[in-house]
Parts: sequence; C-alpha cells; structure tokens
Amino acid sequence: MEIGFIGLGKMGFPMARRLIEAGHQLTVFDTRTEATDKLVALGAQVASSPKDIADRCETVLASLPSLQASLDVATGTGGVIEGKRVKRFVDLSTVGSQMATRIHGLLAAKNIVQIDSPVSGGVGGAEKGTLAVMVSGPRADCDMLKPALGVIGKVFFIGEKPGSAQTMKLANNFLSATAMVATSEAVVMGVKSGLDPAVMVDVINAGSGLNTASRDKFPRAVLPRTFDFGFATGLMVKDVRLALDEMKSLGLSMEVAEAVGRLWEVVIRDQGAESDFTEAIKPIEKAAGVIVGGAKGGSHAAK
Ligand code: NAD
Repeated sequence: MEIGFIGLGKMGFPMARRLIEAGHQLTVFDTRTEATDKLVALGAQVASSPKDIADRCETVLASLPSLQASLDVATGTGGVIEGKRVKRFVDLSTVGSQMATRIHGLLAAKNIVQIDSPVSGGVGGAEKGTLAVMVSGPRADCDMLKPALGVIGKVFFIGEKPGSAQTMKLANNFLSATAMVATSEAVVMGVKSGLDPAVMVDVINAGSGLNTASRDKFPRAVLPRTFDFGFATGLMVKDVRLALDEMKSLGLSMEVAEAVGRLWEVVIRDQGAESDFTEAIKPIEKAAGVIVGGAKGGSHAAK
C-alpha cells in the first residue's frame, strides 16, 4: 500500500520502519530531517510538507506530540487538507475526542475521511509490532487499513463515531498513569519502613497488586534508575489532562482521576515535560526522604 507518514519520533519511527519492512511504500515527513534521513536509507521517499505527502498519497498516517501539531498538520496552511490525492487521514496520536472531532469536521468539508487510531504499548510495542491499535471511523475505511495497521499491532475497531477510539485510549492511559503513581507510592511506603524494593516488586508481580508499572516500568527503568522507558512526562500529563477533560465533558466527577491528575501536575512541575514518565516516583521519594533502587536495585535514605 502507498502510505504517507508524518511524525517520526519515538513511536512514529519504529512504526514507519515496520511498514517499510512489511513491503509498504512510504513517503515520510518530519520537521527533524535526521528522522527522515534514516527512513530514506531504509527505502522511504521524503516529502517537503504534509501537503506534499497528501498530494502523493491517498492514505496519510500521523504520529505527533501535541493537539496543536495534529491540528496544524491535518488542517493548517500547507497541511494534509490541501493535498490533491489524499482520501483519508489516520491520526495515531493521542489527541482526545474533542480535537479528533474538530479535525474530523474540518477534513470532512474537503471530503477527506478522518480516522482515529491511537495506540498503546509504548516504544517497545511499536518496535515489535505488538501495540494495541484502537480505530474509529467509517467501517469500510477502517477495514481497508487493517493490512497496514496490523503491521504495528493488534487492531481493535471501536466504533464509527468520530473520536471514540480516543476516548478508549484515554481510559487506557488514565489507568497507566494511575498504575505508575500508585505503584510509586506503594513502593516508597515499603522502602520508608525498610523493605527491599526489588523484593517488593517481585511480590507484587506474583500477587494481586500486579500492574503495568510493577511488571514493566519498575524492573526496567525505576529500580535500575535508568528512567529511560521512552514516554515523556509531558505526553503523559497531556493524556491525563485529556482524560479529565473527557470526564468533565460527560458531566462526570471522578475522585481517583482528580487525585491522579494533581499528582501528575506535581511531577511535570518538578521533573519537567521532557523527563521520562517513570521519573514520577522522584517527587514521591523526595517527600518521603528515600530513594528506591539504584545499582544494586536496593534502597537507601535520601541525602
Ligand atoms: P515524539 O515527540 O518522540 O515524536 C513526535 C515527532 O513529531 C517528532 O519526530 C517531531 O519532530 C515530529 N513533529 C512535531 N511537530 C511536527 C510537525 N508540525 N510536522 C511534522 N513533524 C512534527 O513523540 P512520541 O513519543 O513518538 O509520541 C507521539 C504520539 O504518540 C503522542 O500523541 C503520544 O501521546 C502518543 N503515544 C506515545 C507513546 C510512547 O510511549 N512514546 C505511546 C503511545 C502513544
């Protein structure tokens, strides 16, 4: 299939690479030329703008870091909306249902179909092609995309309503965000009272506390203190804020979500938007006066 791909960052690059390796013809664009250069070396064509991609391809995928970037790339000057050939815009980014619906309306006026396709499973999942790919939009277009999206993960059709896959993704990421901070609080509590965090994580993973933070994030990025899981705090906070907005727009007030949202605002203020989201444990450690993990995976009192 001929595919345009815009946004070749931590997620976009491995997804685009897998599509090339599966035999799809890719035309790519990113504001960072080093990202496009690497894909050209693997066989992709490079375009000069989102419009240029949409002049050349019927199907354009995007994996972008902010709502504004998705809006600009899809509907701005020099955007996909101005392309001559494009028939469908598939947004792999997490933008929330309100922005997805806004982009849907603007593109529909130009007979371009907007398809939500947010993904979950992290950089590792993007590299291995094991993402959960949540798709919403017209059924026929979603079905037609399956051979391509199947290369990056397991495809779930969520519904025809614009934005519905985004709502699904926000529910998922709210749980992921909650697992990260809740596991941090649980492990910090144990370390403060003298438990070994590596033993704690083993017990949690053999017990009913098991979650994605204890299973994946703590062993790989928190206990060794590498904090390199590959998802920026700024992106996690974007998703938590979007989930809270989504709940409010539905007239819901969710107590756990409010508390989780407050904690993540502390994390972004303390650690910065560019930090890895596994660094969420740091303000919790600081408040408790302990540090979890380290070279031996053990614990010690903070200086
Ligand atoms: P990233 O910041 O690593 O990559 C974004 C890429 O978009 C960069 O290469 C950047 O240069 C490019 N870009 C930005 N503005 C652009 C523009 N106007 N035109 C063209 N290119 C532009 O972000 P990421 O971690 O790959 O995340 C991308 C999306 O996927 C986000 O919506 C994020 O929430 C979502 N997501 C990320 C993960 C993860 O683990 N990193 C997991 C699931 C979903």
